[in-house]
Amino acid sequence: MSQQKTLIPPHTHCKVCGKAIPVGKSYCSNECRESEVKSQQRAKRLSRIYTLFFIALMIIIILMTALTPRG
Ligand SMILES: [Zn+2]
Repeated sequence: MSQQKTLIPPHTHCKVCGKAIPVGKSYCSNECRESEVKSQQRAKRLSRIYTLFFIALMIIIILMTALTPRG
């Protein structure tokens, strides 16, 4: 019985490019970190726009309901 054990030191992968990096780190370089931060900021802004759009839609629906005469 021979078990092949490949000893891979504990590591993780860069969130951006997927490079193997030491555990505890999230990115392989400052460039990758900055690009991730930028994309997160973009996503945050986009979700805020969606939230505002949803709120506006709710207000319109409420106004429409309030303005519609009830039979
Ligand atoms: Zn990277």
